[in-house]
Amino acid sequence: MRVLVVNAGSSSLKSQLIETDGKVSLMKCLAEKVGTPEAYMNVSFAPDFHKTTYNVADLTVEQCLAKLLEVLVDDPESPISGLQQIDAIGNRIVAGGEYFTKSVVIDEPAREKLTACEELAPLHNPPADACIDMMRELMPDTPQVAVFDTAFHATMPAKAYMYPLPREYYDKYRIRRYGAHGTSHRYAAQQAANLLGRPLRDLGLITCHLGNGGSITAVNHGKSIDTSMGFTPLEGLMMGTRSGSIDPAIVTYLMRREHKSFDEMDAILNKKSGILGVSGVSADMRDVLQAAAAGNELAELAIDMYVYRIQKAIGGYYAAMTRTDAVVMTAGIGENSAELRERIFAGLAHMGMILDHERNDVTGQIGVNRIISIDDSPIKICVVTTDEEMRIARETDNLVSQLG
Ligand code: AMP
Repeated sequence: MRVLVVNAGSSSLKSQLIETDGKVSLMKCLAEKVGTPEAYMNVSFAPDFHKTTYNVADLTVEQCLAKLLEVLVDDPESPISGLQQIDAIGNRIVAGGEYFTKSVVIDEPAREKLTACEELAPLHNPPADACIDMMRELMPDTPQVAVFDTAFHATMPAKAYMYPLPREYYDKYRIRRYGAHGTSHRYAAQQAANLLGRPLRDLGLITCHLGNGGSITAVNHGKSIDTSMGFTPLEGLMMGTRSGSIDPAIVTYLMRREHKSFDEMDAILNKKSGILGVSGVSADMRDVLQAAAAGNELAELAIDMYVYRIQKAIGGYYAAMTRTDAVVMTAGIGENSAELRERIFAGLAHMGMILDHERNDVTGQIGVNRIISIDDSPIKICVVTTDEEMRIARETDNLVSQLG
C-alpha cells in the first residue's frame, strides 16, 4: 500500500510517501519556518534523495501540503503521476485527549472529535486538522487515518495521569496528563523486546525519546504506566527550547514582575528556555556539545542539567515499575550521541545500568539497533532508531486494510 504520511507541526511540515509492503520510503519532504517569509520546503525522491528546495514563503501548513502534492504529480522523478496512486493518508496528531485511545480511520464523527481536541494542542492540532480537511476535499475517496502521540499513554493509571489540582478542572476541562511521543515509545519498547529476545509482555522497560523534544516512559508489560510529558508536551525533561518541569509559581511571578502576557509567557517556556535558554548558544545539542568542549561554561551547565534531569527521571520510573529489564535510548540525541549516553549512564551504574564503552561508540553503528550495556549488566541498555513516519504508515495500512 502507498501511504502518504503527513506530520504537520506548528511551523513545519514533514511528509513521506511510503510503500508499506517493502517498508520503503519513496519521497521525503521537510518544510520549515512555515508561515514566515523565510519558509522553505525540501523534497527528495528515492533512490538518491537529492533535495530540491521550494520557496513556500508565507504559506500555511496546508498550503505547503498542497504545493507538495503538485510536486508529487509533476516532478519527473516522482514515483506517481496522479493523486489516485496514493492509497491512503496517515496523519500524525499530537493530542487525542480522552477521545482517542488508539489510531482511527477519519470518518465524520472522528473528524468532529478532532476539533474538540484542538484546544489541547493549540499550536499543533489545528494545522494537522486543516491538512486533513484539505485532503478530504481534494481526495474524498482516499481513506485517512489519524495516529495519535497520546494514544500509547491511554493505559496510564489515574494516580499517574491526575494532577493534584481542584477536581473541578478535570471535570470541566479534562486537565490531566496525556503524554506524547507515544508512537516512538511504543516502537522503541517493541524493538528492545526483539533485541532482548523476549516477549514485550514479560518486560519492564524505560524508554527515553531524546530529541529536540524529549520524554521518558515507564513501559510495564508492554503498557505505558507513566510518562514525563503531561497535559502538554511542555512538562518533564529539559528540552531544546522547552523548560520542562519548573516551579509553576515562576510563571505567575514573571508575569507580574515583567508584565508578560499569556502569549509571551508561553513563548518563553516553549521557545526560549531549555538547552537554548541556559546555554545561550543553541537549541541543537551538537552545537552545545561543541561549545562546551571549547570551554563555554554555560554550555557545560546546560548539558549537566540536561543529563541530571534525565537521570532523575530514569530513577523515578525505576521506582514506579515492578521490574526493570532495560533502558532504551532513541531519537536524535538518544540514538546518535555516545557522549551524552556516557554521561547519563555514568550516574546510573549503581542502579545496575552498566554501559559498555566500546558498544556505546557510534563509529559505524549509526542506525543499528543494539544492546550497549556489558554482558552481565543487571539492566540492559539498548539503542533503537526511531522512524515515526514508517510507524504511522504501517498503522495506516493496518487500519485501512481492515476496511476491506
Ligand atoms: P530529533 O528531534 O529526534 O531530530 O533530534 C534532534 C536533536 O538531536 C538535536 O538536538 C541534535 O543536535 C541532536 N543530535 C543529532 N545527532 C547528534 C549527535 N551526533 N550528537 C549529539 N546530538 C545529536
